[in-house]
Amino acid sequence: MGKRIVILGAGFGGLHTAIILGRKAGQTNEVILIDRNSHHTFTPLLYEVATTPKEVANYIELHEITTYEISNILKGLPVRFIQSDISKVDIMNGDIHLASGEKIKYDYLVVAIGSEPNFFNIPNIRENSFQFKTFKDALRIRDAVWDLVSQGQSPKIVVGGGGSTGVELAAELQHWLYYIKREKKDCEGQVTLIDGGPTILNGFSKTVIDKVTRRLTKLGVCILNGSPIGNVSNNKVVLKNGQEIKFDLFIWSGGVKANSLMQSNPLKFEEKGRSGVTPNMTCLPFDPKLKLYGKVYGIGDIVCAYSENGLPVPMVARAAISQGTVAAKNILEELKGKNPTHIYKPINYPYIIPVGGKYAVAKIGPIVFSGFLGWLVKGLIELGYLFSLIPTGKALKVWVRGLKIFIQNDRLG
Ligand SMILES: Cc1cc2nc3c(=O)[nH]c(=O)nc-3n(C[C@H](O)[C@H](O)[C@H](O)COP(=O)(O)OP(=O)(O)OC[C@H]3O[C@@H](n4cnc5c(N)ncnc54)[C@H](O)[C@@H]3O)c2cc1C
Repeated sequence: MGKRIVILGAGFGGLHTAIILGRKAGQTNEVILIDRNSHHTFTPLLYEVATTPKEVANYIELHEITTYEISNILKGLPVRFIQSDISKVDIMNGDIHLASGEKIKYDYLVVAIGSEPNFFNIPNIRENSFQFKTFKDALRIRDAVWDLVSQGQSPKIVVGGGGSTGVELAAELQHWLYYIKREKKDCEGQVTLIDGGPTILNGFSKTVIDKVTRRLTKLGVCILNGSPIGNVSNNKVVLKNGQEIKFDLFIWSGGVKANSLMQSNPLKFEEKGRSGVTPNMTCLPFDPKLKLYGKVYGIGDIVCAYSENGLPVPMVARAAISQGTVAAKNILEELKGKNPTHIYKPINYPYIIPVGGKYAVAKIGPIVFSGFLGWLVKGLIELGYLFSLIPTGKALKVWVRGLKIFIQNDRLG
């Protein structure tokens, strides 16, 4: 066997890196992919999971539509998948510590372990909030909303953080409550979206912000801007300006930071605890003279690359995949004894923000469009992503099943 390449994390970045390296180098080298989950999660659909009631889709159906078994994706590829929690990454000695106590050495390492919620040290926020990061988080939110409605309550839901995930969740929750009210007349549920900045979607184009704000207002979402959250108790959020907002359910989607697992390593950390990287996507040690064990690449949410305008590349799936491709190509060159020449070139990633029902606002290059067309394009992009992972027939089946469920969900609430 040649070299051992270990990839940590089977999210958007890690999984694509493993597929490329498995195809191109797996026969003559050992490619290992490690993740705590047996599945890969398609996060852009989690807002649907959080708002699809049990009568429309059960746990298994939702799981099949939004998560894909890693062993199925890797079927036939010479990649060894290990399902395990990684408890420590030691890039000075070249050891990956698994929760079982097992240690794995590497020649090449690709760190792709993503991000975790950022609570910004707001007092009591962690213990009093629902998070919105994983499939299970989304199910917990759905069950909590449904429990409140079933008990005859009118849920007061507060979503903290008006970035794209907060926006899509707030919109879809309000949309769901609207349909619930049609059946349960006295259910007056209300979603409030709080963002400390002057507007929601801080950093997005003004046209997008205006369109999304109009749509949220039309749906009935109450938007509170301008004052950050000061603290949270078990039934209310207190803003720094003193305003109190009572809730039955508080969901925190106010930001993420790099997975803290890498913090014990001597790396150069940038904003949000993300590791600095070279244009080749290798991690930068805090002291350039420091000799790391083997070659350490980092991709996706865990690292901080900069775009031409000097701003950090946003933590999005497309960036993780592009960076993974660069890392994989460089490792392939190194395996051939060459110097790595591939460089990550950030672009203005297009984005689509679903804002309740069959409506989304999209920005592709300079063009902004919205409404049903945005929702349709979003669906087609999801299909394209599925095609890149699983055989065409299966991808189509999963996509159509998802489409049916989510369309039915929009109608039934
Ligand atoms: C609700 C939601 C909606 C989103 N919507 C969009 C969207 O529409 N478009 C978009 O571009 N981006 C979206 N994002 C952001 C996108 O999901 C991330 O930018 C992307 O997942 C980053 O990819 P990654 O490979 O760096 O990490 P991830 O995809 O997060 O993968 C990290 C992997 O590492 C594993 N892992 C982490 N720690 C450990 C450990 N200790 N042991 C073992 N395994 C571990 C995790 O299980 C996970 O599989 C969304 C995110 C969320 C939460």
